[in-house]
Amino acid sequence: MDKKWKIETTAVQGGYEPSNSEPRVLPIYQSTTYKYNTCEEVAKLFDLQAAGHMYSRISNPTVEALEKKMAMLEGGIGAMATSSGQAATMISIMTICNVGDHILASSTLYGGSFSLLKTTFKKFGIEVTFIDPEKSIDELKTYIRPNTKAVFGETIGNPGLNIIDFDKFATLAHENNIPLIVDNTFPTAYLCRPIEHGADIVVHSCTKYTDGHATSVGGMIIDSGKFNWSNGKFPEMTSPDDSYHGVVYVQDFKEAAYITKARVQLLRDIGATMSPFNAFLMNLGLETLPLRMERHSKNALEIAKWLEKNDKIDWVVYPGLESHPSYNLAKKYLPNGCSGVLTFGVKGGREAGEKLINNLNMIALVVHVADTRSCMLHPASTTHRQLSEQEQLDSGVKPDLIRFSVGLENIEDIIDDITNALEQV
Ligand SMILES: *Cc1c(COP(=O)(O)O)cnc(C)c1O
Repeated sequence: MDKKWKIETTAVQGGYEPSNSEPRVLPIYQSTTYKYNTCEEVAKLFDLQAAGHMYSRISNPTVEALEKKMAMLEGGIGAMATSSGQAATMISIMTICNVGDHILASSTLYGGSFSLLKTTFKKFGIEVTFIDPEKSIDELKTYIRPNTKAVFGETIGNPGLNIIDFDKFATLAHENNIPLIVDNTFPTAYLCRPIEHGADIVVHSCTKYTDGHATSVGGMIIDSGKFNWSNGKFPEMTSPDDSYHGVVYVQDFKEAAYITKARVQLLRDIGATMSPFNAFLMNLGLETLPLRMERHSKNALEIAKWLEKNDKIDWVVYPGLESHPSYNLAKKYLPNGCSGVLTFGVKGGREAGEKLINNLNMIALVVHVADTRSCMLHPASTTHRQLSEQEQLDSGVKPDLIRFSVGLENIEDIIDDITNALEQV
């Protein structure tokens, strides 16, 4: 596969290369299992001495094509699909953490990631310190402990829409010999490729712009292949894995040590696998990713500017606006657009905002972002409901905040719908 393709070409053609007379379109291999001729061949698969599919909990040809395309898009050396974005986040950390380990995570994470790290990781004995990403590197360094195993952040925070300072976070991680894991769900590889800015591992909720049409839940972990796992901090990477007859990941899989371990250990044991049908839909979605991200970004910027000028609107947050604190970071890391999600508050606060949402016609109230259809949501009463008020504020959720995922409709129809609804406020 020609890795020198531009991103638009990779989005359309990457990951699947049919041979003579094979289907032009990626087939759905709806099969749990694979046929072999001899016991020796299957034994080699189990010992990880030969590549091949044995059981679809661990790998499947349709899912593999999507993984290859995502790895190419992000500039990684390998990728692993999961059943959801949550599973991707969980496995990305579990692959390198054990009971008693610690990680640093930005406090401005997606609500689901925040709950996973704060509550569920505690059950596994992994402690998380949430850090204010705007703090200086000298202050952030003070949170590093001898058992800290990773730094975790999002390219675009959710729903505060703050842009991660890659230079600062990569320095913080690498000076301490630990990887930087970045959730790149909102920009996608089309608008930002975190590996080019120092991230070691990238995770995605493919449920959002990757699928792009709100049909399927899925996730992805992409490995840059650049992190040095032999630095003494990650003994599981450099010592024999008893569950695989003493495989030593770094020795046997070289730069693919991390993504191989994620698959053959955690995907095997936890089983959070993406289905072939969902992989087919995700792959179809990716074919138009560049076109969609361009239009989502263009529509969102226009709407943000329009809302900012509307005297019924109290405030607007979008990193493409000069008024946003991350505007300069956005220019640096997302020069081609800031994706389709913005937030705003209506004058009159929470009540006025709810009235606006209730009076929309075309724009729907749904618990989702990042598909073709415009939608709005009030996070304080929905996605961030489980957090305390202080935690909500820490993660950027004000009581009156409305999250607006700007779709691909004609901008005039979007503006008309909001204008009409605002007349009822
Ligand atoms: C939705 C989302 C997730 C979780 O993904 P699911 O596919 O819903 O499990 C993680 N991170 C971000 C930024 C998200 O928007």
